[in-house]
Amino acid sequence: MTEQSPALDNLLTESRTFPPSDEFAGQANAKADLYATADADREQFWAGQAERLSWDTKWSQVLDWTNAPFAKWFVGGKLNVAYNCVDRHVESGHGDQVAIHWVGEPGDTRDITYSQLKDEVSRAANALSSLGVVAGDVVAIQLQMVPEAIFAMLACARIGALHSVVFGGFSPTALRARVDDAAAKIVITSDGQYRRGKAAPMKANVDEALQGAETVQKVIVVRRTGSDLEGETPWTEGRDLWWHELVDGQSAEHKPEAFDSEHPLFILYTSGTTGKPKGILHTSGGYLTQTAYTHNVVFDHKPGEDVYWCTADIGWITGHSYIVYGPLANRVTQVVYEGTPNTPHEGRHWEIVQKYKVSIYYTAPTLIRTFMKWGEDIPAKYDLSSLRVLGSVGEPINPEAWIWYREKIGANQTPIVDTWWQTETGAIMISPLPGVTAAKPGSAQRALPGISAKVVDDTGAEVPHGGGGYLVLDKPWPSMLRGVWGDEERFRDTYWSRFSEQGYYFAGDGAKYDEDGDIWLLGRVDDVMNVSGHRISTTEVESALVSHPTVAEAAVVGATDPTTGQGIVAFVILRGNAVDGGDDAVQELRNHVAKEIGPIAKPRQIMVVAELPKTRSGKIMRRLLRDVAENRQIGDVTTLADSSVMDLISSGLNSGK
Ligand code: ATP
Ligand code: MG
Repeated sequence: MTEQSPALDNLLTESRTFPPSDEFAGQANAKADLYATADADREQFWAGQAERLSWDTKWSQVLDWTNAPFAKWFVGGKLNVAYNCVDRHVESGHGDQVAIHWVGEPGDTRDITYSQLKDEVSRAANALSSLGVVAGDVVAIQLQMVPEAIFAMLACARIGALHSVVFGGFSPTALRARVDDAAAKIVITSDGQYRRGKAAPMKANVDEALQGAETVQKVIVVRRTGSDLEGETPWTEGRDLWWHELVDGQSAEHKPEAFDSEHPLFILYTSGTTGKPKGILHTSGGYLTQTAYTHNVVFDHKPGEDVYWCTADIGWITGHSYIVYGPLANRVTQVVYEGTPNTPHEGRHWEIVQKYKVSIYYTAPTLIRTFMKWGEDIPAKYDLSSLRVLGSVGEPINPEAWIWYREKIGANQTPIVDTWWQTETGAIMISPLPGVTAAKPGSAQRALPGISAKVVDDTGAEVPHGGGGYLVLDKPWPSMLRGVWGDEERFRDTYWSRFSEQGYYFAGDGAKYDEDGDIWLLGRVDDVMNVSGHRISTTEVESALVSHPTVAEAAVVGATDPTTGQGIVAFVILRGNAVDGGDDAVQELRNHVAKEIGPIAKPRQIMVVAELPKTRSGKIMRRLLRDVAENRQIGDVTTLADSSVMDLISSGLNSGK
């Protein structure tokens, strides 16, 4: 490759556009002039956004970037994050507004008002303090989607302790690694969790994880499935405490202390799609400013009117930034659902949307493709007319899935916001503005006002419109990570060394500009395929496959090939779970890709499978499929949602299917 050539060939074209209706545009929180306002003076712009929050002490400087890549935002400012998410809404007269409509998987429900939330968080904060937890201590939280997870996170924030939330489905080994890495003093968990209609134990896993864990002094256990009533909750006297016994008796009065804007708020591990998870550190003032701002402008959220639902798990950054911090800072009324989308039936989400009149719905492409696979007649049975904004996050959304989402869920009229961001960025970075942008299916389009992103080539030079390369963030932003926990070298190496000369943050994702200069995400740089000297993105070939009416999901990898360098190997799931992957069907799919993209992208091999390996946050793990395609021993599967999927795929292939 010559130095000037783009890092990626730009193959798939998509020309449909969907401008907002005049009606939507007219009432939108963000108008087109926001871009120019932000460009005119970025620091002034962010200072304005920080005014969304209540500060105890105002900052003296917006940004200190002199010690790059370690940023300081709102220097000298002091605030309490939990006060901003809870108390101030009660003080402004909205104590009776429902903050959380919680829906349990078995059908039990709980509505929690801001007044009640304030009491719950205050009690939990008092409880943690009574155990000797002080500012700067680390509390590990392994809980499913129960209200106590949110109470616990906010209680930590209230007293200045850092939380490290560990996904409820993680194994003892994964939990232990995270507890040790951060030297957690307290672990908060539950006796068990409901999953697909059954109660599964949780405390037993935690006990296994904590054997010999010296930093952990207390384990607080939320009673959810009541397994102790059957004598099935293992218990360590002196260490273990029931949440209801410890917390319920505490005072509901708690004075929030103001902490420095750069006081650490939490550690969270990345999902491990590309390798060993990284413990990402976020701090207070900048993080809360950007999550609140983006939640307001990207989702067009109106406090007191909208009902919002982000379907992410609290164990991922989306759950932190768009269930807990951004939305609650903005006085949201939101749905929090405990269970899986097909329990007890495949219309569960739509039933909830109908019941609570959800108006803003934010989910991941993997779930949208699953809904497509289940069939459009399922959402058609429910009244979804309350929906007015739809969002997507986690992976590039294939144009066909985007169109399906808009037509079948959004009544062919709701704006869709395809939001690109990462654990590391803390908040949304690239996304349409729903009242401004003429949306293009499959494109995240443009950096938000106040944010700057570029697509560059190997040398760090910006590629021309129509060209492809690496996505970088060329200016610091308020919710940026402040480091990798305990590993400064990994922080510098992973994000700042690739384009150190320019001082750009390297996101690790491939991207391209279209002719209008809009940004399209093309998957991980690690996943880019090289076929006869052409650098081809997995996303584009997958989107071409998904655009065929028989295909629900596709994952594409490059496997070593003696003649072309790499050959394209595709794994597909058919719609309606059809399994007829006969030779004719496969041939038709190969030809379809050639027609959509060009002969160079025609897969060498297509395999019909029933499942794909996904992380527990729903992302396809291509590195494992590459191991299969190249007949290698399969790599680390600890963050897979279901590790048996790999056995299924490998055995299907070996039997010649
Ligand atoms: P690890 O860094 O450990 O491999 P991860 O990158 O999967 O884990 P996250 O921080 O949860 O962990 O995911 C961020 C990544 O998700 C982005 O780098 C990008 O690849 C992908 N992503 C998120 N949103 C979008 C989007 N709207 N379009 C395209 N890709 C997206
Ligand atoms: Mg990542």
